[in-house]
Amino acid sequence: TLLRRTDQRRIFLASIVENSRDMIVGQTLDGAIVSWNKSAERAFGYKPQEIIGRDISLLAPPELGDEPARIARQLAQGVGVEPFDTVRMRKNGERFPVSLTVSPIRNDAGKIIGASAIARDITERKAMEEALREREERIRAISRASLDAIVVIDDAGRIDFWNPAAEGMFGYTEQEALGREVHELITPPDQREAARAGMAAFARSGQGLVVNNILNFMAMRKDGSLFPVERAVASLKLGGRWYALGSLRDQTERKQAEDRLRELASVDELTGIFNRRRFLELAGQAVDQAKRYNRPLSLIMLDVDRFKRVNDTYGHDFGDVVLKTLCRTCRSVLREVDVFGRLGGEEFAVLQPETDLSGAMEAAERIRRIQAATPIPRADGQITVTISLGVALLGPAFPTLEALLKAADEALYAAKRGGRNRVERAG
Ligand code: GH3
Ligand code: MG
Ligand code: MG
Repeated sequence: TLLRRTDQRRIFLASIVENSRDMIVGQTLDGAIVSWNKSAERAFGYKPQEIIGRDISLLAPPELGDEPARIARQLAQGVGVEPFDTVRMRKNGERFPVSLTVSPIRNDAGKIIGASAIARDITERKAMEEALREREERIRAISRASLDAIVVIDDAGRIDFWNPAAEGMFGYTEQEALGREVHELITPPDQREAARAGMAAFARSGQGLVVNNILNFMAMRKDGSLFPVERAVASLKLGGRWYALGSLRDQTERKQAEDRLRELASVDELTGIFNRRRFLELAGQAVDQAKRYNRPLSLIMLDVDRFKRVNDTYGHDFGDVVLKTLCRTCRSVLREVDVFGRLGGEEFAVLQPETDLSGAMEAAERIRRIQAATPIPRADGQITVTISLGVALLGPAFPTLEALLKAADEALYAAKRGGRNRVERAG
């Protein structure tokens, strides 16, 4: 029964080998092929009778050089070859990739009498690897060409990917950036804590305030300088961990253009001072501020005397020169903190923070006096144009910007009625 059981086992093994999906080839120690299963026949294209007895190196393409010799040497020393990726050649010369394992075969006395070579066709795996590599290569090319910085961080905030645009934008090379904690690198120190706050939740869920949102924030360059950045973030899961991919766009130029536009929209073209809209905006803020901190705030309103006559007599262009001269005069008297604007036509207003009524009266009087003492030259001589002014103080009597404007306007009217080239106060 013992003999029969061994025989049975032999028959089973032979069948398994014969029908294996892997190519299984038996060889002697000097390389002669002694067994050849169906898969080998299918893959290589040799019938058993064509190949038995021939040298196994026939199956290795010549460009592999001494690979068969190396395997033979290993076998001679009694060691096999662990699975490794290589290439084999069909009868028709076609190459195909395999994973190859070679194991010594010993007789009952323990002497090596040959080897089994097991080759698994890995065409599919290789194709997948190649497709993956190509996709990766494509993504790398996209990120290299991107004008935006592309940064990938892991769930601990460590930088995993850093494209050339990121190098240019932040001043760190890829080498310097990889592995660093992103906020330590590009977030201004006073905002790091807040920026890191969402990371724990992100590591758990891949969700967070910044994910799938476009947000603006201030970023820091290697040299410590700050600049505005627009950031879009997507999350992705790799190997069971969440990663965040951020695309970051430098907003410096856009910000500058916006500032320029805002400036254009808030400045009066003729005189270069604030236009009515901007003046009222800033005046509103100044009133809020003065009330909150209980500080004095005064308003001066002024209007050119008999300006229609100036225009009628000397022309509109000369009228414009008068307005510009008046603005220069006012500016020479006013402080940096004073808000000076053109309310319309030849009517102007000055808001003076930290200034009580007597201080504002003094400033108004100085403007009046300088204007009256500054003749404006013309081709045929010079003329003097005077102004009238009204002054009001923010307080219980005039507690809002509206009330303040109305009070100063009424005071200005009083100055006109009083004979012009005068300063009057409200209340
Ligand atoms: P009053 O002393 O009462 O102020 O007399 P006035 O003639 O100055 O009267 P008013 O303030 O109503 O005059 C406004 C004039 O200002 C009318 C308009 O032709 C002129 N004006 C308004 N804007 C401009 C401007 O941009 N350039 C010039 N040259 N004139 C302007
Ligand atoms: Mg006028
Ligand atoms: Mg007027």
